[in-house]
Amino acid sequence: MTSKTRQDTILSLFPDLQKFRLDQIQTALFDTSIHNWEKVSTLSKTVRQTLDEKVPWTSLRCAKTIKSKDYSTRKALLQTDDMLAIESVLMKNTRDQWTICVSTQVGCAMGCAFCATGKLGLSRNLNVDEIVDQVRFWQSQIKDDERISNIVVMGMGEPLMNYDNVRDAINLVLKYTDIGKTRITVSTVGIVPRMQQILTDPLWPHIRLAVSLHSVDPITRKRLMPSSTPTFLEDLATWAKEYLETFGNRRHHLTFEYLLLEGVNDSEEEAKKLARYVQKIGNVKVNLLIYNNTGDFNGPRTEKVVAFAEILQNANIDVTRRRSMGQDILAACGQLAQKIS
Ligand code: SF4
Repeated sequence: MTSKTRQDTILSLFPDLQKFRLDQIQTALFDTSIHNWEKVSTLSKTVRQTLDEKVPWTSLRCAKTIKSKDYSTRKALLQTDDMLAIESVLMKNTRDQWTICVSTQVGCAMGCAFCATGKLGLSRNLNVDEIVDQVRFWQSQIKDDERISNIVVMGMGEPLMNYDNVRDAINLVLKYTDIGKTRITVSTVGIVPRMQQILTDPLWPHIRLAVSLHSVDPITRKRLMPSSTPTFLEDLATWAKEYLETFGNRRHHLTFEYLLLEGVNDSEEEAKKLARYVQKIGNVKVNLLIYNNTGDFNGPRTEKVVAFAEILQNANIDVTRRRSMGQDILAACGQLAQKIS
């Protein structure tokens, strides 16, 4: 594997490589018309030959892809060079824009009760190349006149448990693609120390953050998300106010994700409690997610979802309901589990 990145290898091969050459190499890696080192015409033949021999063009091998019945979603099973498997998803939204869902770890240690990935446990963090190469992979899969508009870092793994690699990968994507900062969302279960790090980290990109809340009752939240600490809800409220104060004027939308599970967190009372919690913090959007079946829970009926959303709207909270995509190929949120059948 893997801890040594492509850039580390290149710099060890060419210790005196000038910065602009490294820049040319990164530019070529994101150029969808180039598929191997031989075609990187900005580099000398000798450099190209050495790279060809010593540095793989990509860190991921595509083992399989499948498409949803309506062709809106594609899922890829990608293999790392140490033969571990991750899944990555491409989705077309109603405006015909492509969004990709990127994984950040092989498996996940967080053990969320509603999530197939959580059942796998954690094998390891993905390195910068393995995160970036999911973006490059999907770029290579769409037509020449199409582009990826959005990235959601919501695939396998908890991104903030792989903080440095996720941050560095996103910075590379921002630098070498035309995907803008407000088009990238990192979703976290809420790793408070890392969220605090974001507040002061000059290298953290000004992208959007989504925190998976799922309940404002500490016991229910702990049941759903075993990583939840006893003080999480207070810690999140304090952090969110600071985050909004620090970045709120820079279009740093903060979203709380709320996965509706029948009989668990979808009651009127829960909606009212959620409304009160969000009102105390301020300008936070709530995104209601409908459960994608992974076997352990049921999603609520549509009327229940509508009623839940109305309570929030009546409390002047900005509410969205995320369209679920790719359920028939187990590519929707919470369904990624290293298998494509
Ligand atoms: S929901 Fe996210 S953080 Fe929770 S187990 Fe699944 S992949 Fe991990």
